[in-house]
Amino acid sequence: MSSSGLCGICGRTGAGYTCDRCGSLVCERHYEASVGFCVECAGEVGGGGPSGSGDGRPDDADTYRY
Ligand SMILES: [Zn+2]
Ligand SMILES: [Zn+2]
Repeated sequence: MSSSGLCGICGRTGAGYTCDRCGSLVCERHYEASVGFCVECAGEVGGGGPSGSGDGRPDDADTYRY
């Protein structure tokens, strides 16, 4: 829709990135481009690698992507 949205973390306008994990719209400051996640997800995923829950189960991230 709009080219600018509200960051799901800081609430500022100009969020142009979507987290590939939780789908949150975030601004550049709160988006980790190296992993494609927001900083919250990047912190969880990058902190300890794949968690024990949901292993062997494909991520649903691609389901609702075109
Ligand atoms: Zn932000
Ligand atoms: Zn996220």
